[in-house]
Amino acid sequence: MNISTLNNWLNSKECPLLISGPCGAESPEQLMATAKELSTLPQIALFRAGVWKPRTRPNSFEGKGEEALKWLQEVKQAYNLKTTVEVANASHVNLALKYGIDVLWIGARTTVNPFSVQEIADALKGVDVPVMVKNPIHADLQLWIGALERINNAGIKKIAAIHRGFHYYKTRKYRNEPIWKIPIELRTIFPELPIICDPSHISGKREYIKEIAQKALNIGFNGLMIESHINPANALSDAEQQLTPNALKELINGLEVRSNIASDDNTVNKLIELRKLIDEIDEELIDSIQKREDIIKQIGKFKKEHNITIFQLERWQEILKSRAQWADKRNISRSHIEKLCQLLHEESIKIQNEIGD
Ligand code: PEP
Ligand code: MN
Repeated sequence: MNISTLNNWLNSKECPLLISGPCGAESPEQLMATAKELSTLPQIALFRAGVWKPRTRPNSFEGKGEEALKWLQEVKQAYNLKTTVEVANASHVNLALKYGIDVLWIGARTTVNPFSVQEIADALKGVDVPVMVKNPIHADLQLWIGALERINNAGIKKIAAIHRGFHYYKTRKYRNEPIWKIPIELRTIFPELPIICDPSHISGKREYIKEIAQKALNIGFNGLMIESHINPANALSDAEQQLTPNALKELINGLEVRSNIASDDNTVNKLIELRKLIDEIDEELIDSIQKREDIIKQIGKFKKEHNITIFQLERWQEILKSRAQWADKRNISRSHIEKLCQLLHEESIKIQNEIGD
């Protein structure tokens, strides 16, 4: 992908780089009052507001459309804030551009549909506007990458990904599961692509926003998108997850900001030292895995010669139980060890299946 850095196109050196504003633009007064407060926050790089709201059920607040774009123009003039809205089709793109919206974003419900994303990409050909792409609702990294590529192929270089978590069919602590390994994999595939975290839509509740935001900064995300509303209790959408601008200020000032690189030689050397220890341990682990595989081959042959099935439920249950106890004894995470056992067992079955005559 051919991309330009987020701080460049948002013209900001602040950390964390912050995108904030209400879930939805409800009235000129609500927008103005929220923007007025936010404009005093140095970290604010973009003012967000949804003007077309994709709602799960009909008869909910669906946004004020074109009318609200005019209000956003006024906000931009009054408080010198760059603005961003969600677009879901070509007509949204054309209207947003007509009213001078600075950055567009594609929402989770649109990223899932390649037809819609392509329609947006086609409407963007020849236009120099930054675009942020939220992850699809479900945990499909390829679909997220596909949407980013469609936009990038239309000639958009100012592009960023927004991680807003993934839908889970059961109720959990958070509204959407963060599944951090997905944005981390995205970073590994496209190291230059800015990734912004949206702790509001991950958490679904005000009280969890800070812990998610802190985690995102610790991992090394490039910015945060957090919903704020002058009067969250009366918000027409996502009322439970919006913060007042004051609460947002407090939250942002309470975050610890980490640097991507170690600052001095001592720190660099200490890290090298610790990493050497990890290298040694990993080599020991791989040695042990080799020994384990040798035994697995013997067992595989033995089972074949004696006509015994490869998968033995009781043995597998016993492995899971004993390893969980060993983990408890050493005070390490059961679920970590269970995942490791699953991996080893899967490989063991594969090796035994491959044993010839
Ligand atoms: C939003 O940002 O208000 C929104 C609708 O988000 P998402 O697409 O992540 O659900
Ligand atoms: Mn919202």
